[in-house]
Amino acid sequence: MKDIESAVKAAGESVRAGAEMIELRVDYLENLSKGEVVKLVCAARESIGATVPVIVTCREKKEGGAIEYPDKLRVETLCEAIKAGAEFVDFEFANFLETTYSEKLRAALLSKTDCRLILSAHNFKSKFENPEQIYEQILKVYPKAIPKLVYKANHINDCFAAFDLLHNTRGKRIIFCMGEAGLISRILAKKLGSMVTFASIDEGKGTAPGQVTLEKMMQLYRCETISSETEIYGIIGSPVGHSLSPAIHNACFEKIGANKVYLPLWVDGGKNEFDLFMQNIINRGWLGFRGLSVTLPHKHNAIEFVKENGGEVEKLAERIGAANTLVLDVDGKVKAYNSDYAGALDAITETLGIKRTEMRDMRAAVIGAGGVGRAIVAGLKDVGAKVKIFNRTIEKGAKLAGEFGCDFGGLDDIDTREEDLLVNCTSLGMYPKTNDMPVAASILRKETAVFDTVYNPIETRLIKEAKMIGARTINGAEMFIEQAKLQFKLFTGVEADSELMRQIVYEKLKSKKH
Ligand code: NAP
Repeated sequence: MKDIESAVKAAGESVRAGAEMIELRVDYLENLSKGEVVKLVCAARESIGATVPVIVTCREKKEGGAIEYPDKLRVETLCEAIKAGAEFVDFEFANFLETTYSEKLRAALLSKTDCRLILSAHNFKSKFENPEQIYEQILKVYPKAIPKLVYKANHINDCFAAFDLLHNTRGKRIIFCMGEAGLISRILAKKLGSMVTFASIDEGKGTAPGQVTLEKMMQLYRCETISSETEIYGIIGSPVGHSLSPAIHNACFEKIGANKVYLPLWVDGGKNEFDLFMQNIINRGWLGFRGLSVTLPHKHNAIEFVKENGGEVEKLAERIGAANTLVLDVDGKVKAYNSDYAGALDAITETLGIKRTEMRDMRAAVIGAGGVGRAIVAGLKDVGAKVKIFNRTIEKGAKLAGEFGCDFGGLDDIDTREEDLLVNCTSLGMYPKTNDMPVAASILRKETAVFDTVYNPIETRLIKEAKMIGARTINGAEMFIEQAKLQFKLFTGVEADSELMRQIVYEKLKSKKH
């Protein structure tokens, strides 16, 4: 914040939103002086009350500071902040090695023994080569320091060095990763004993790359409830930022009072990166990973990993060749499931008000032979339905049909006269091309129920046209909710609150910026 007034306002808002500590970044002040810093600390204290600790930081530009101020002035302002009652001041470890600066800070701290010095080291490009060594050096130079090590994670797998350092050290310390790939470290820092984790007040107002907003920290990840015992769940994918899963699983965890948190796990890359991520979490049982949802592009990698590592694979998941749910036990054994096919079957039976046994001999036309098509064909065949597959790419569709013993045709062959159910497993109709349809409206008929797996928008043109002629319809959001319910049961052993899930999914999908 550029001036005292807005900095104090922001501090007050943050505390009201749940912040347990406030950092005043005085390097953002346009007119930095000793007097301004004293005014700011006093005004902030008055606004946030006596019980919320204050960190004062005047960061050097090359370590992420906002305005380039002389080191001498930065040290003097920190000394004034100590006198004015800040509980913590943060100074760069590299600059603390300069005797004139360290002497001044040490003297100021001697006169105010309740203030602690945070000595920080940053790497804005990548991991530290030897974080343990930096940590030890900090404590050797100033044993009363709180070491702070922050580095950029260029991949989620870079976060594990921070977790190891937190796990292997004790006492007050601050360790986490910057960047989008470091997101989980900001949340798990709390579980592993980091003194603080940093959040920004608003999107775009963060003081470091990859900062999560305070609102997300408090409401989505329920950061105040995270403890060393918290079990970790999440969705592995790339990209994963758009996923609805963290919102629904966290809300349902909260509803049953479970000490669990569900995170987006952005595992960029292919099988190697996926395998490394899995090994990283399995080798660190103390992290407490217990369950994973898996989305594109890792559903096949997930099943391969479990097979290669002696885990159990649900029979139909193996046949489909993809797993979207992994459950980990305390010994690191992994079980793989596919809740996509089961979720699709549940969406059909729930919406049509029938039992799975009543799907035997149901005649179904499935359009599409990609990942979702494959899962739905496997599910329909498993309950005894008679399935015809239609696909744009003939070889791909014919191959799938051959594998599961189905009839096959090209897109021009689709005819619903003999079908009880038509399922769209292509992306046709999905935003932004919401006018597209996988079939002409003229071939729809009242007697054939229509299931569109596309859920953005919730009501696709195919669903609208089918409704218009009085056909029963099943939308993709219902499939998404059913598969999430099955995952939740696998993760917790109890049923999810399906109405809560439905409310969140519909709310989020309707508010999506199309
Ligand atoms: P995928 O593996 O890429 O398969 C896409 C399928 O769509 C293929 O059969 C492809 O045909 C066909 N297709 C794509 N563009 C087409 C076009 N212009 N004309 C005709 N056919 C076309 O994708 P996926 O993972 O199966 O996902 C498919 C859709 O399912 C997604 O778009 C998403 O909306 C939906 N989905 C829903 C849920 C849920 O829970 N409801 C979950 C995941 C996905 P070719 O073989 O000829 O390329």
